[in-house]
Amino acid sequence: MSTLQIKKAEPKLKTAEEALKEFMPAGRRVAPKRPFVLGLRLFAYMAKQRLLRRRKRFPLVTMLEPLEACNLTCDGCGRIREYEPVIHRMLTVEEAVAAVEASGAPIVSIAGGEPTMYPHLPELIKELVRRKYFIYCCTNGILLEKVMKQVPPSKYLAWVVHLDGMEERHDVSVARRGVFRVAMRAAKKALEGGYRVCSNSTLFKGADKQDLHQLFDLVTTMGFEGIMVSAGYDFAMAPDQELFLKRKESNALFQELLDDQSIKQFRFYNNPLYLDFLKGRRSYQCTAYSNPTYTIQGWREPCYPLADRHTQNVNDLFEPALWERYGVGKNPKCANCMMHCGFESATIFEAFKNPKDMMVMLKGIATQKSGVGAS
Ligand code: SF4
Ligand code: SF4
Repeated sequence: MSTLQIKKAEPKLKTAEEALKEFMPAGRRVAPKRPFVLGLRLFAYMAKQRLLRRRKRFPLVTMLEPLEACNLTCDGCGRIREYEPVIHRMLTVEEAVAAVEASGAPIVSIAGGEPTMYPHLPELIKELVRRKYFIYCCTNGILLEKVMKQVPPSKYLAWVVHLDGMEERHDVSVARRGVFRVAMRAAKKALEGGYRVCSNSTLFKGADKQDLHQLFDLVTTMGFEGIMVSAGYDFAMAPDQELFLKRKESNALFQELLDDQSIKQFRFYNNPLYLDFLKGRRSYQCTAYSNPTYTIQGWREPCYPLADRHTQNVNDLFEPALWERYGVGKNPKCANCMMHCGFESATIFEAFKNPKDMMVMLKGIATQKSGVGAS
């Protein structure tokens, strides 16, 4: 479905029941599960990097941005503004695959921009699946239905649909009416077609607990594999700086959202240690070298949300001197950052040193309710 096919005049869904009726996938489905082999691969990879290669800093997830153009203009988005002068440029499939190989991480998160606008996306995904990378393809859902016809389902592939709330709130968040419905219909089709589907919600000022719980309930009932949550990063180039939460405000919001018995029924993809961090109950230093981010201008340095420069050598991102300048308490640009890429990976690295934390994380992975976020 193209952007032009968004029906602007459709009446809004009034209740969660109406939404469920409209978006519940047809047919009998098995309970969604993250492939067990993904956890095994990641564990083996980390053990190899740490014990055999003696690497202190190494990537877990390659963030691949084959283009920065998008068919939306969300107020909280830095990318479409930051790359405005080169927004017409795209990576070739060869360049994209070479970046993934140079990083070497077993998981690839394809982001942007809007990856479904990348004309070579089916070819890129097929090539990465052939090489047995686990792919999370992030999308606003507008073109998903059209693009998925060209990509067969695979245990190596999950679509990650951007959803910041139920219809009213999500459409405000992405600054266009009708997007929630189009994205949810695409998610329904994807689930019916046997694809793995996750959701990703970024929380900004004014996020509403009840609305988000309705969303989490809806996607869990529909059969999404997992829900990812994160606090928005205060991108300097985003036009509405009022949207962004300070660290303490994020902690209070996540406490309100997650300290609630009802969340036990939701299937979070983030691991329990990261959820505790979001609530302000654990402290970690940023390990954003775990998510090197490749764009049309090269690797973002130092990290996914922040690019003070671009480099052509991924190994620059693992240099100790770089991390003396970035992280909480080291750089004012890091003061409010609580993003997955910096801190969910930190919970994983720390759990490798702390058996008690490792048990908490393994328990989450074993129950398929939490684990490794994609971005
Ligand atoms: S959908 Fe994503 S890339 Fe597009 S404008 Fe919104 S936040 Fe930016
Ligand atoms: S805290 Fe880490 S992930 Fe966040 S902006 Fe700083 S370096 Fe980047």
